Amino acid sequence: MTTAILGIDLGTTNSEVAFYEDGKVTVIEGPDGKLFPSYVGLDDQQNLLVGGAARNQYVLYPERTIKSIKRLMGSSDPVEMGDSRYMPQEISAMILRHLKQAAEECLGHSIERAVITVPAFFSDQQRRATREAGEIAGLEVVKMINEPTAATLVYESNHVGSKRVLVYDLGGGTFDVSVVQLQDGVIEVVASHGNNQLGGDDFDTLVEEWILEQLQEDGIQDVSRQAQARIKRASEEAKKVLSVHPFAQIEEEYLLEHDGGPYNLNLELERTAFEEMITPLIDETLDSVHVVLKDAGLTASDIDEVLLVGGSTNIPRIQKVLEEVFSQPPRREVDPDLCVASGAALQAAMLSGEQVQSILVDVTPYTFGTSAIGDIDGEYCTDVFVPLITKNSPVPITRSEVFYTVTDNQKDVEVKVYQGEASHALDNLEVGSFHIQGLSQRPAGSEIIATFSLNTDGILQVQAMEKATGMAKSITIDNVLSRDSEESLAAARNRINRLFGADSADIEEEPEEDVGEDNGTGSEPGISAEVLSLIEKARNLMDTVSEDDREDLVDLVEQLTTASKENDTARVEEALEELTEIIFFLES
Ligand code: ADP
Ligand code: MG
Repeated sequence: MTTAILGIDLGTTNSEVAFYEDGKVTVIEGPDGKLFPSYVGLDDQQNLLVGGAARNQYVLYPERTIKSIKRLMGSSDPVEMGDSRYMPQEISAMILRHLKQAAEECLGHSIERAVITVPAFFSDQQRRATREAGEIAGLEVVKMINEPTAATLVYESNHVGSKRVLVYDLGGGTFDVSVVQLQDGVIEVVASHGNNQLGGDDFDTLVEEWILEQLQEDGIQDVSRQAQARIKRASEEAKKVLSVHPFAQIEEEYLLEHDGGPYNLNLELERTAFEEMITPLIDETLDSVHVVLKDAGLTASDIDEVLLVGGSTNIPRIQKVLEEVFSQPPRREVDPDLCVASGAALQAAMLSGEQVQSILVDVTPYTFGTSAIGDIDGEYCTDVFVPLITKNSPVPITRSEVFYTVTDNQKDVEVKVYQGEASHALDNLEVGSFHIQGLSQRPAGSEIIATFSLNTDGILQVQAMEKATGMAKSITIDNVLSRDSEESLAAARNRINRLFGADSADIEEEPEEDVGEDNGTGSEPGISAEVLSLIEKARNLMDTVSEDDREDLVDLVEQLTTASKENDTARVEEALEELTEIIFFLES
């Protein structure tokens, strides 16, 4: 049955509303999707706009649009919108009314009660103002719970015993971090810290500034309000693209008039450049993490789990730095945008006397990635594991990463797909591999984009694409989520056998994969990791050795590749030996 109490996350940037029914939480979709932008405005006819419509006009008509009202909750100063003045709780009430209506439309009946979440640091006055906003909107606020408590509830609703959790919440304009203690079913915020002027909006601003700099380089100084609004939107869009893709294309046709003609914006922003821009801000959040740990009298190793909340925690860099601090990947199985509202709905169900069940979604229990040349702990290494889809990510999921060719005019790339966590790819389980051949003749360092997509049925699709030409090839690997340990053991045994140079009779059958092609190139039988790493070493040496040695290297690499492809073990061994010798000689 449906709980007649809604769960509402009344956010600074976005708000969400959810309900609990038949053992599951449903987040309600409104006109703009599941996120309801926390914007209120008046259009030119003085009609009230709430949500996406108000947000869309914000940059153009800030005088009749209000954002981030949550920051002013509890203050007795009114805000101006058009010709009238409103108390902060009245503006929040308009957002709540909007959420209530969407819920009623979805459920088909009226609803009068809600659980609303508030930041842990909210004062009594701010909480009172929030309750008042509910009342103005026609909602009885049966309970207000802290946002980190709501998030913890989602992950730990059935937890028995004691546990310490750190909730890292980075939204659009605010950052909060809390230590939450679970003890015998009681969830308590032990310490909380944050910065209510730091969030994803600041990341957007950095991208905007970067775009404006590029415009200046083209001699453009004056940017109309209209163009600014488009740049702002494009910046946020690019930022979101970079959460899943190594590059973002920023294209705005006819952005403005320049030199008497239309100026089209066309830029590419790299993830690494974006990460560099936001590093100081991420560092600031880490400072707060350390403050909150200190306040709670704890160190990072006392934390059992880290939970991610807030839209900005979709940024991979943030996940990575937290993993570094806490030596474990943060949990984000529940969409960080919807986590708090879902927790509020669970609390609502509990208040109605329901026995709530865990609502955790499908996640991958394994990490998947590929290998590249790089260094591990400062040591050069040809099998650095590069994870693309990390353990505990919700599925379905798609992630891309950029790789670079090693040599000039490199013709092919071998893509190996591994499952595991070890930093050396060869210590992980290889679940598939393929070759992408016929790369266009380019200098070393040209980009190859690898994309991994994993669906709920455990089908992993891996594609490699030459960025410059779009030429791509892919592989589909079935049942990656249910590989039993027997298979992993067989694979591990094979790997070791190969390294010890065992003959093919010792090599067990491994599960077959199905190699799909996006272009006309043929697929190749596998070349062993040992051979590949040697080839890579040889290729690296080619640029620095004498003409004669280079010729020898090229010759041997070719022999080795051909022999491997033809499965001619004797010739492989022979070439391998010679190549090892010459590399040894050249390296010393
Ligand atoms: P709040 O709780 O403060 O209302 P949200 O949790 O809704 O805010 O977070 C909104 C912010 O999250 C915005 O700055 C938005 O651009 C950012 N965001 C949402 N999705 C992504 C994403 N995939 N990658 C990066 N940032 C994102
Ligand atoms: Mg939120």
